[in-house]
Order: sequence, then C-alpha cells, then structure tokens
Amino acid sequence: MIELPSPNHAARQSAVDVLVLHYTELPLDESLKILCDGKRPNRVSAHYVLAEDGTVYRLVPEDRVAWHAGPSYWRGREALNATSIGIEIVNLHGDRHDYPDVQIAALIGLCRDIIGRHPAIEPRNVVGHSDIAPKRKDDPGLRFPWATLAASGIGLWPRPGAAPLGGDIQVALQRFGYPPAADVTTADIVASFQRRFRPAKADGMVDDETRALLAALLDQVGHEA
Ligand SMILES: [Zn+2]
Repeated sequence: MIELPSPNHAARQSAVDVLVLHYTELPLDESLKILCDGKRPNRVSAHYVLAEDGTVYRLVPEDRVAWHAGPSYWRGREALNATSIGIEIVNLHGDRHDYPDVQIAALIGLCRDIIGRHPAIEPRNVVGHSDIAPKRKDDPGLRFPWATLAASGIGLWPRPGAAPLGGDIQVALQRFGYPPAADVTTADIVASFQRRFRPAKADGMVDDETRALLAALLDQVGHEA
C-alpha cells in the first residue's frame, strides 16, 4: 500500500454501505495526477487506485468522502459518494482490455479488507459505476470478472437455472437497486444490468435470459426492497 494523499475529499456524514468499482480509462501516472489535482475545475478522487501490477495507492481515508461516483443512484438513494468507498482500477477500457490476474487478486484482497471494516456493505451493494449511473458510465466494463469476485464472496453473481421473471422489468430492476426510468430509459437500465450480469449481449433488449438472471438475483437477495 502506497500512501498518496489527495486534497479532494470532504467530511463523511453517513455510514458507508456501498462499494463502487471503476476503471480509470487512463494509465496509472495520469490517473494519479488527475485524482490528486486540487486545482482542476471538476475535482475528482477515489479512496484507492489499483495499478495493473496489483499495487494499491491510498488517496483518501475511508472516513472521508471521495469524489468518484458523480450523479448516481442505488436502492433508493442518490449521490452515492456520501455513503460509498470508491476504487479506481487501472484499465484503459474494460470493454476491450482484460484485467490481469495479479490485479484481480489484489482487488479481491482490498475489497475483503474494506468489507471487513464496513460490514454494512452487503453483497448486493458491491456495484460498478455503470450500475449506479446507467448510460452515463460504462465502467468497470464488459471484461471485468464479476463472477470471479463473487466466487470470492465479493458482490453477487446469478445462479443459473432460474425461471424468467414475469411482469414489469423496470419494477424488478428497481427492486434489485437500479434507478427509476427518469433521466434514462428502461432500455438504458437493462443495458446496464446486462453489462454487469450478461456481458455477452448488453443491448438493452429484454429477453428470457435477462429475465432469468434478474429472477435469480432477486431470489438470492430474498426479495427485500
Ligand atoms: Zn467510474
């Protein structure tokens, strides 16, 4: 762990219960420079930056708010910086570039430590930036190994074999955590869901496989709102 304090943070008023994963879209040096720049017009930061070789940089203490999520929504709450920890994973675009195994191994260790310190981060609250900001954000991307993380107890992965969910897909997506269709359409939100849970076809079209994956996840979280 390398300490690299960023000036971009604020007081934490609420307890942490969400973990947000991002890709940087920039190389390590450039990412660190931007996330530690206190003079840009739009100041940004994250609690941690994870290099491709697995090195972890700590920029903002967990008891301070970092500025990584932007306009965002999950499980009825907006502006998730207030209640989240953010990790920026170095990757130029997770739709096109694989995450090295050594980086993912380090990520699993880091996430385990964070969740250990904040047990309110339940599995369904480990999210990608694309989950909490549909259409606006694509990270951590189609190649991010969510299933590997879930196998290590970090986040959820749908068990196969569920029957497709009937009814209004938007209502069901919201029950899991996704935002209402207001600034974005239901198709955008479906695409976000697929980006995370069915990356082979993230086209925003509601099909039986999408409905089955959502049914499995709702079953795994016990249907609670
Ligand atoms: Zn992001």
